[in-house]
Amino acid sequence: MHEYSIAYDLYVTARKAAIENNATGVKKINVEVGKMAMVNPEQVVFLFNTIKEEDPLFTHAILQCDEHPPRTRCSCGYTGDEIFICPSCGALPELVKGREIVVTSVEIEVAD
Ligand SMILES: [Zn+2]
Repeated sequence: MHEYSIAYDLYVTARKAAIENNATGVKKINVEVGKMAMVNPEQVVFLFNTIKEEDPLFTHAILQCDEHPPRTRCSCGYTGDEIFICPSCGALPELVKGREIVVTSVEIEVAD
């Protein structure tokens, strides 16, 4: 399942960041999901919560997924968010951005 591997990757990324920074816990993971990534963010959050369940570092962790609009460009010079038909020339625009899933930040707790 696509969403499961994404949720697991996010968990591993956040865990690594927490350990590298001597965190006592992970508070929040902020993620940008491109609209064209064909991912259901709610499903990712649900699976993430299942994966993190047994990990005490993640007891209070929240996964925040924000959807991002796509970005396209066309050989005629058009850039925008039309993904199927270029509004200036009618050609199929090229997808520049919108398929990626990016961790923008990991908020952690550290001991005094
Ligand atoms: Zn065009």
